[in-house]
Amino acid sequence: MKNTDQLDALLRSLYLSSFVSNYKDFAEKAEKQKLGHINYLHELTHTECSERQRRRTERLINQAKLPRGKTLDGFDLTKQPTLSPGRLKELAEGNFIDQCENILIFGIPGAGKTHLASALAREWCLRGRRVFYATAALLVQELLMAKRDLRLNQLIKKLDRYEALLIDDISYIPYNREETDVLFVLLAERYEVRSVVITSNLVFSQWDTIFKDPMTTRAAIDRLVHHATILELNESYRQAEAKKRKKAKEEEKPPEN
Ligand code: ADP
Ligand code: MG
Repeated sequence: MKNTDQLDALLRSLYLSSFVSNYKDFAEKAEKQKLGHINYLHELTHTECSERQRRRTERLINQAKLPRGKTLDGFDLTKQPTLSPGRLKELAEGNFIDQCENILIFGIPGAGKTHLASALAREWCLRGRRVFYATAALLVQELLMAKRDLRLNQLIKKLDRYEALLIDDISYIPYNREETDVLFVLLAERYEVRSVVITSNLVFSQWDTIFKDPMTTRAAIDRLVHHATILELNESYRQAEAKKRKKAKEEEKPPEN
């Protein structure tokens, strides 16, 4: 075929962009290797499917707004004796999302909560899940603005599109009553409908400082833990790394006499 413009246009109208970029090269190869029509078509279709899958995952990861560079491969498990590789792998599969269950990650600052949550979320995206990451501080501000503009419901519906919502550092800022209320509404709306992943420096007994009155605190905790996996990271990775660096530096120094 001399003029392939029409074929290109037809393929594009079917959204087969990978066909468009590959069919000529693949045809040459198929001819040389005597692959036959069916194998040629199979190879083209296979490439189209993998390309689509790659683009979809890329889109999911971009939409998730995850902190950069936090992967599961880069997460050192030796520092976290409560987390086995098997457990981590199971969490990475993301099956809890189908049951609308939650994950709560506790630990002191620097323990790796944000890293772990983001790395897991990345894995879920790779498995085709729609995920969204936000710090609690920013999320609460967004919710508050939405409430003031009478579109809180709309925003909650929009967040509903995400199968797992990561709320990082729920205990970081001192909330006022209005902020607590919108956060509570969001959690209540997602209860048993969508998953939530929360990280916190504060243990439950200190959550009064987040939700202010004991009733709301109790109601929030009850909903979150009803179907939840709780992970506790207790050593500060940041501090351990700093100690390691200090020790290495000291060992480099020649002994003083
Ligand atoms: P947290 O959210 O608990 O305060 P972060 O996840 O921000 O802690 O971790 C602090 C820093 O230490 C980050 O740069 C993170 O990538 C790194 N870090 C923490 N835990 C680990 C770990 N187990 N393996 C590798 N890096 C880690
Ligand atoms: Mg953090």
